[in-house]
Amino acid sequence: MKGMAIVPFTLNEYAYCWNNPLVLVDLDGLSPNIPEGLTVFIDPGHGGSDPGATITEKTNFWTGKITRPALNENDVNLEVSLMVRDILEDNGITVYMSRTTDQYVTLKERVRLALEVNPDLFISIHHNSSNTFAHGTKVYYPKVVRHGDSAVISSQLAETVNSFVSKNTGLKNKKIHEGDYYVLNQFLDPTEFDYTSHQLAKYRQKNIFAILTETGYIGGDARFLGNSENLQIIAESIASGILTFFSEQCCEL
Ligand SMILES: [Zn+2]
Repeated sequence: MKGMAIVPFTLNEYAYCWNNPLVLVDLDGLSPNIPEGLTVFIDPGHGGSDPGATITEKTNFWTGKITRPALNENDVNLEVSLMVRDILEDNGITVYMSRTTDQYVTLKERVRLALEVNPDLFISIHHNSSNTFAHGTKVYYPKVVRHGDSAVISSQLAETVNSFVSKNTGLKNKKIHEGDYYVLNQFLDPTEFDYTSHQLAKYRQKNIFAILTETGYIGGDARFLGNSENLQIIAESIASGILTFFSEQCCEL
């Protein structure tokens, strides 16, 4: 995508910041600064027989109007992930994915695929629980671990992505958190795979980053997440966060 990313903004109850400009990066200005050869691995959470969080449709008893759409987390994750992929690829970044259709992939297979690619960034895209009283966006980063000589610190990236999502969508900012997730842990420190630490250090020879996004609740934010234009805003925000991080804050890969 060339030029400033313009996203149609839907005025709804969540969009209280509708009259503010979106916090999206100037992609034309940014692209030259993105390190050459950057690779990103996108992992759309769940899929196939594993729907993730789900919520049923709700209608108004008197009017019959739909007040809440039925949603499956796996569908929302995939739609956002494909949008993020397209934006990153348009900016010259090589993108790999653990799935591009509605299929079941084990957690171990997701990590195995990522390790094979040896990306600079692993991002697992999820949405939060079916709790209808909960709202907001969170991004998780792994504990700081070391493999070989390479320190892995992802909290700054998590902060950039989460603040972009919150500012652009109006979703409540539920901050960044350290997350104890299999895919993050095993990507950074693959104890369940047959790598020696020497092999792994040689294999990577660079800093790598990993985050897991939960950009809204399938329950409490269902009306927002049930709208593709809003999912595009989430995707633009995630991609802008990644591009900003790698172009401005992260100089050594
Ligand atoms: Zn999930």
